[in-house]
This record gives sequence, structure tokens and C-alpha cells, in this order.
Amino acid sequence: MTQLIWFRNDLRTLDNSALAAAAAAGPVRGLFIATPGQWQRHPMAPVKMRLINKAVEALAGHLADIGVELDVAVLEDFAAVPAFLQGYCAKHQSEALYANREYLVNEMARDSAVAKALTIPCHFLHDSLLAPPGAVMTLQGQPYKVFTPFKKQLKELLLSAPPQVRPRLKGQGTAAAPVPCFSDPQWDPMLAPWPQDEEAALVAMRRFVVEEVADYKARRDFPSQEATSRLSAALSLGLVSVRQCLWRLLHEHGDSTWDDGSGPGTWLNELIWRDFYQHIAFHFPTVVKGRAFQEETDAIPWSSDQAVFAAWCEGRTGFPIVDAAMRQLVQTGWMHNRLRMIAASFLVKDLHLDWRWGERFFMAHLIDGDFAANNGGWQWAASTGTDAAPYFRIFNPTEQGKRFDPDGHFIRKFLPELQRLDDKYLFEPHRYPGRLDYPQPLVDHKVARNQTLALFKAIKEA
Ligand SMILES: Cc1cc2nc3c(=O)[nH]c(=O)nc-3n(C[C@H](O)[C@H](O)[C@H](O)COP(=O)(O)OP(=O)(O)OC[C@H]3O[C@@H](n4cnc5c(N)ncnc54)[C@H](O)[C@@H]3O)c2cc1C
Repeated sequence: MTQLIWFRNDLRTLDNSALAAAAAAGPVRGLFIATPGQWQRHPMAPVKMRLINKAVEALAGHLADIGVELDVAVLEDFAAVPAFLQGYCAKHQSEALYANREYLVNEMARDSAVAKALTIPCHFLHDSLLAPPGAVMTLQGQPYKVFTPFKKQLKELLLSAPPQVRPRLKGQGTAAAPVPCFSDPQWDPMLAPWPQDEEAALVAMRRFVVEEVADYKARRDFPSQEATSRLSAALSLGLVSVRQCLWRLLHEHGDSTWDDGSGPGTWLNELIWRDFYQHIAFHFPTVVKGRAFQEETDAIPWSSDQAVFAAWCEGRTGFPIVDAAMRQLVQTGWMHNRLRMIAASFLVKDLHLDWRWGERFFMAHLIDGDFAANNGGWQWAASTGTDAAPYFRIFNPTEQGKRFDPDGHFIRKFLPELQRLDDKYLFEPHRYPGRLDYPQPLVDHKVARNQTLALFKAIKEA
């Protein structure tokens, strides 16, 4: 008889609630189920799928070190999971199933179907967030729709019960079975900068918290400075736990972690945004089904100009900071947070395209693609979400470039055609009197801005 631990977005052996619970109950066997068909439909970026494959290979090795075997199954989609698990549990005489909870609609439906199909006990544990959905509610017992009070209450909760990181599991080492390939190896070169297993993720997290986080507040908005943790992909696959992050913050920086004005406190706030959007997706599942949180904004007649959308996707809008951002995304699978806000705002408020088009394009390219964070970020930028930017606050893409890439290092890195352009023209290349192999601006920002205001005003008045 064995305890089955089913790994999903928690590809680590350290501080893993489900693994710890399974190990406490008896000998453990691990399972990972790849569902490439489901992932492609969502759409998961191929580079993210490749990272998952690499992380599962590494997990097999880490589990073998503590004497746990990992099986890897490749199924088309979630629908095939319950029947597969019935057969698997019978074959391996599993006594109980353990897994860490996921909070999105399809994932929860899959888990319910599994619990119904199996005759053994299924334990789904809270693990991936600082606090599970339902733990941070208003006095009236309602979910928060605004970030700041959510953050305040979550911090009080964490202060009263600081996170505990589970001790390392011990066991007799064994050999790891080979892991099948369920992704495309051609994406490997793009993976080089990213932690691909729990050890690398921990090293990266510790280095950031020890060496960088003190300056995070001052430097995090400048894309050329590489001043953010770049842990988003590791957090989204669970190579590192958010508890490990908070524990390390407290260990290195003590009480300044709770201070919003400090670097550690600012970083903690970002981790809390991650929780916030997961809670929103859990409590308001219509956002997961393609609806705007502020439903009246679904009546906005967005443009459906495919050519304009293609120009945005390919970084050919004529606005250097937007184009450099989009090329960073397509070339590296990642985009800096400030640029995600600028590129998203531009798609919606300058090009008047549906934010869902941008949301989908980001998911299809991001190595850290996370449905709740991506949806939350897009709805924030589009002024359709919970804690949305007010619709009349519209980024000026030229001014954003000047402010956050003042010496043009980032723009020049991703737009080689502007590399030699004088600083004077870098943010407005269309003013350059000579010839340039760079497009004219797709829109006049002032005109586009007024159109956006009119679109939103009409909806709000209606
Ligand atoms: C339009 C848009 C789309 C986004 N899509 C995603 C996405 O698919 N996946 C994703 O993880 N983040 C997304 N974000 C949030 C944020 O841009 C990234 O988490 C961040 O850029 C990752 O870099 P980092 O790890 O260096 O972050 P850091 O600045 O070091 O922050 C630490 C961690 O906090 C979390 N975090 C930070 N900011 C946010 C935020 N605004 N919302 C939720 N979590 C946050 C991430 O897990 C991040 O790794 C999006 C933001 C916007 C505006």
C-alpha cells in the first residue's frame, strides 16, 4: 500500500504540504500528469510547457534522493484524468491521494471529478498562497474587491501567525525513472536564464532577498536594471513556495518586511498581489470565463482590426517602449512588469482592441503565464477589473518611455534599428528628419486618448 502524491503546480520536494502529509501517512509514490492538449487550448506558451517538462525531470531526481518514485503520465486533457487515476490507483494499491489545491474553475472541476471517481480518500490541501481563498474576507463575510484592505487584513493574519516552512523530508535514495518528453526541446535555449528546479529557484530567491530586495522599491520600475526577482515562473510552477519567500524575507530583514515603504515590504506587497488575483478568480469565476469584472464594460465596442493587432504583437506600433516590450516578450518569453502595464494599456486605450486579445497573446508567450495574475493585470490595465486603474488615467507611451527608460538602454537592446538614433529622437523616432527602418506611429496618442474617454464615458453614463 502506498500514499499517492499527485504533483501539479508544486514541482518541489521542500515545503510541499501535500508531499509532507502523504509522507506522514506512509510510503509514498509520486505522479505527474501532463495534459498538453488542455494546456495548448488555454493557451500555454510552448516555453512554459518546456520548463514544466524540465522541472518534472528535476523533480524525479529530487524525489529519488528521498526514496520516492515519480511516474509521469501524458494524457490529452483534464477529462481523461479521473479514469486514468482509477486505473493507476488500483494498479499501485494507493491508499489515499494527496494533492495541493488549485483554485481555477477547470482545475477545481477536474479535482471534484477525481474525488467522485476514486474510492480512496482524496486530500486536497491549501499550499500555494499566503492565505487560502475564504481566509481574507470583509467584516460582512464578502470577498474583497479592492487590493489595499485585502493586503491590510492578510498582513495582520500573517503577523499573527508567521508562515512555517516544513523541514526537509528524509528517506533512502533510489534511482529515478526516465521522464517522457511532452514538450518541444527547441525551446531549451530560451530556458537558460530561468531556474528549472527547486534548488536553482531557492538559490535565486535567497540571492534576491539578501542582495537585491533592499533596493527593490527604488529600482523595480526600470526595465533595463534587472532589479526584480524574476521568480514569477518558479512561483507559478511551485519550484519555490511563497512561504519560503516570506520566511526568507523575515529571516533577512525582520520587521522591515511589514513596512510598505521598505524594499522588502514593497516586494511582499507584490507577493500579496499574487494572492489577491487568485482569490478574485476563486470568488468571481466569471473572470475566468472571459467576462469583465465590471460587467458593464463588456458593452464597449472594441475594435477588431487584425492588422493593428498584428502590429502590436510584432512590436511594430511606432512607439519604441511598446515595441521593445513586445519584442522582449516574443524573444525571451518574459516581460518586465512596468512594460506589461504599458503594453496592455496601449492595446486597450490607444488601439481600442479587446483586452482579451492581449490577455490571450500574453498567455501564449509568457514563461510565467498564470491565468489569475494575467487576467488581473489585463483587467487592471483595461479599467474593467476589481482594483482597476480609473478609465481616465491613461498612460502616455512616449512619456512612459522617457520616464522608465531614460537613457534608452532597454529600447536600444530590443530595437536594433534604433540603436544609433540620437537620444533626442529615441522616444519619438517619427520626428527624425532622416530615413529610418522603423514604422510611423499607428495612432496619434492624444486623439486615441480622447476616443477612449468617450468610449468609457458612454458606458458609464448608460
Ligand atoms: C498585463 C499584465 C499581465 C501579467 N501577467 C502575469 C502572469 O501571467 N503571471 C505572473 O506571474 N504575473 C503576471 N503579471 C504580474 C507581474 O508583471 C509579474 O508577476 C512580474 O513582472 C514578474 O516578474 P518578477 O518575478 O521579477 O516579479 P517581482 O517584482 O520580483 O515580484 C515577485 C512576485 O510577485 C508576484 N507578482 C508581482 N507583481 C504581481 C502582480 N501585479 N500580480 C500578481 N502577482 C504579482 C509574482 O509571482 C512575482 O514573481 C502581469 C501583470 C500585468 C500588468
